[in-house]
Amino acid sequence: MEISFLRKLQNAAAIWSVFFDKPAGLRFQPGDYAELALAGAGPHGDKRWMSLASAPQEPEIQFTFKVSDRPSAYKKALLGLQPGDKGMISPPMGSFNLPRDAITKLLFIAGGIGITPYRSMLKSIQLNGDHRDVVLIYVANPAEFIFGDILEAAHVPIIQTSESIDFNWLKKRVADIAERVCYFAGPQPFCEKLYAQAQAAGLPNAQLRLDYFEGYNEL
Ligand SMILES: Cc1cc2nc3c(=O)[nH]c(=O)nc-3n(C[C@H](O)[C@H](O)[C@H](O)COP(=O)(O)OP(=O)(O)OC[C@H]3O[C@@H](n4cnc5c(N)ncnc54)[C@H](O)[C@@H]3O)c2cc1C
Repeated sequence: MEISFLRKLQNAAAIWSVFFDKPAGLRFQPGDYAELALAGAGPHGDKRWMSLASAPQEPEIQFTFKVSDRPSAYKKALLGLQPGDKGMISPPMGSFNLPRDAITKLLFIAGGIGITPYRSMLKSIQLNGDHRDVVLIYVANPAEFIFGDILEAAHVPIIQTSESIDFNWLKKRVADIAERVCYFAGPQPFCEKLYAQAQAAGLPNAQLRLDYFEGYNEL
């Protein structure tokens, strides 16, 4: 599906958001991701999987990404987009979504840029006027905590840290963690470590949701 670039916004020194118009037929769930293709963004490929950071109820599509000191041609192409430039978006997909029932207690764990799907979920909860029991753990580099306005408006308990965390750290801060569905989003090593520790601690797979971002090794 073709989408048109609207504008970009700098969230932190190395973090940017890009906004596109939303085609009428585009449907997605908060937490979904899609493949965004940009013409001429080689040589390692002109498309990447990106979480939809916007909520389905919002009028635009938002993607938020981090740019390293040596950005890929793809990231350079994202940053160089001009209003009216076209991209192609695949059908959104994923299973990193909110439970149908609003009573399940949730624990969102974000590593760095892994905050993107939670922006969509928390904004969607807020716009729906739903009441869900959510705790957010947000681990990021000191100057890279983003979406402060959205997170504040969500009115959920948030623990932000730049420490390296493990499952014991989580258990100390979230006493009822065993009663929560736990979501892990962010760099692959960050997510896989915590996911494995949660399994080893006895949390059943049905209670765990994983959304690791390949292409990021660290926060
Ligand atoms: C479900 C999902 C959701 C995601 N959501 C987001 C999101 O919301 N925001 C976001 O920023 N990212 C997201 N990602 C990650 C995204 O798809 C990219 O992988 C990431 O942004 C890195 O892209 P890049 O262009 O900067 O780096 P890339 O060019 O993809 O490089 C990533 C790494 O691979 C190495 N590499 C690249 N090409 C080669 C090659 N040919 N040979 C050897 N090594 C190579 C690079 O050196 C680098 O270490 C998501 C990924 C998934 C799977």
